[in-house]
Amino acid sequence: MTRLWNDPADFADEMIDGFVAANGRYVRRVTGGVVRSTVSPAGQVAVVVGGGSGHYPAFGGLVGPGLAHGAAMGNLFASPSTQQVYAVAKASDNGGGVFFSYGNYAGDVLNFDAAQERLRAEGIACETVTVTDDIFSASTVEKHKRRGIAGDLTVFRVAAAAAEAGADLAEVTRLARLANERTRSFGVAFTGCTLPGAAQPLFSVPEGRMAVGLGIHGEPGIDETDIPTADGLAELLVDKLLQELPDGVDNPEGARVVPILNGLGSLKYEEMFVVYRRIAQLLEAAGIELVDPHVGEYCTSFDMAGTSLTLFWLTDELAALWETPVDTPAYRRGAVAPQERAMDAAPGTPAEADAVPAADDDSRRLAVRVAAAVETIAATVDAHVDELGRIDAIAGDGDHGIGMQRGSHAARDAARTARDAGAGAQTVLARAADAWSDRAGGTSGALWGVILQALAARLGDTGSPDATAIAAGVSAASAGVMAYGKAEPGDKTLVDALVPFASTLSAQVDAGASLIDAWIVAADAATRAADATADLLPRMGRARSHGQNSVGTPDPGAISLALIVTAVGEQLAAEKETVR
Ligand code: ADP
Ligand code: MG
Repeated sequence: MTRLWNDPADFADEMIDGFVAANGRYVRRVTGGVVRSTVSPAGQVAVVVGGGSGHYPAFGGLVGPGLAHGAAMGNLFASPSTQQVYAVAKASDNGGGVFFSYGNYAGDVLNFDAAQERLRAEGIACETVTVTDDIFSASTVEKHKRRGIAGDLTVFRVAAAAAEAGADLAEVTRLARLANERTRSFGVAFTGCTLPGAAQPLFSVPEGRMAVGLGIHGEPGIDETDIPTADGLAELLVDKLLQELPDGVDNPEGARVVPILNGLGSLKYEEMFVVYRRIAQLLEAAGIELVDPHVGEYCTSFDMAGTSLTLFWLTDELAALWETPVDTPAYRRGAVAPQERAMDAAPGTPAEADAVPAADDDSRRLAVRVAAAVETIAATVDAHVDELGRIDAIAGDGDHGIGMQRGSHAARDAARTARDAGAGAQTVLARAADAWSDRAGGTSGALWGVILQALAARLGDTGSPDATAIAAGVSAASAGVMAYGKAEPGDKTLVDALVPFASTLSAQVDAGASLIDAWIVAADAATRAADATADLLPRMGRARSHGQNSVGTPDPGAISLALIVTAVGEQLAAEKETVR
């Protein structure tokens, strides 16, 4: 139960403000999160971590010498946007490239990958290792699909120690990958967590029971049992983790292991020490040499009561890196030499915020219609916000309506500003796309950013595109969404509405239909396809884990997409009427 907040919508921002005010010795605020307030050597690889807020000390609490250079900090339990990740990485870069690491969650992967692509396009070298330590989130065959929990710490530390020692980006990446390979975690939970202002916990565990393998955002576990004794829990945790030794470890006997017993938010340290006592006995009995044991909070899940055990299986190389001293707000190891403070730079603002690229009159006229279309999108979302939230609550987390509202309102405002500044059609829509994904949060926000960016690229800031170019833009949007989100038709996502929309639009235009006529037929196809998602089982996104619940209910992202393309089609038709 969270008791203290002002406006719940401001909670994450105000939390970051207070965190920075209390830790100026280590961090300074930048757009999208925090970076070190101390100077890093020129050419040093910058280690950038991040994720949703609500996991303190992950991620901002782990920024400082010996650990991360920057942390992108999203809203509560929501991935940081592409712009946030990009801005934090830019502010962290020391000229040696950027190394990204974060827990493996779909929304984070989308946004970090998009930021990485943008940085690479600017000539900044980037590499990524996502953390996949939770053994209960997927089988060994699908190890790459596992989510990241407290094992974040080992991967971040190894990457940062390598960077500190002067390793280049490729070497940092190799070592981080090795650390991830040799890190395994497993957790249990006794209660769910309640986000600020929420009336209900995000999920719940029955009184007296323990969820086994439960994820840090309530993703279902594999089992539920009565709460065991402290020793019983230690036995369960050790047993499961010794059943899955990492590649390269044939026998626990003689291995060196860093054990991390992590509290998820409201478990007492004293309880954890009682459990750890038995864990240490069991690991030693298995012939394991324990190195630098950790008992405490390293990755929490708001006020969830629960704990996880991580075993980090050292090699000589990893053991040497583990000696690197660290000094961050929430995590200290050894003694770090005094650090030079960075000059207080103003928080970054997007450089191109005001100036707009040159445009011709044709494109400016089109820009007015584009901005009007974005207004229509926002109005359509407003009219259906409750319904979209309700559909998302059935199998997802209920935030689709408000996420789409935040995104489309920000897009509408950005489009207006760019239009008033005399921007062409491409710039107006591109600014709307950025604002949308930046403000929306969630998976759909990132994907709407991709959709509008792909479309914007075909509009240009000069001249005016024909129907074929627009249809090609919609096809590019559809391909882009599939490339980023990795969902395919039939997975019960917005792809199920977007693909038929794009293909019908192209087919109609190719057959000689006008853009308006083609759009209306395509919007109809999207609506039918969105309705038909009711029969599907979700295979992607958050809804994947609650599959069965959603049969009979359509996918919220597909429905909102169909509503939007329908409304835009009606607007195109109305514009034609007025022109005539
Ligand atoms: P979140 O899932 O982060 O809470 P939203 O609730 O705003 O985000 O959006 C949920 C919608 O996002 C789903 O209904 C689905 O249409 C879409 N979605 C989720 N994952 C994917 C994906 N990998 N590819 C395409 N669409 C996806
Ligand atoms: Mg949702």
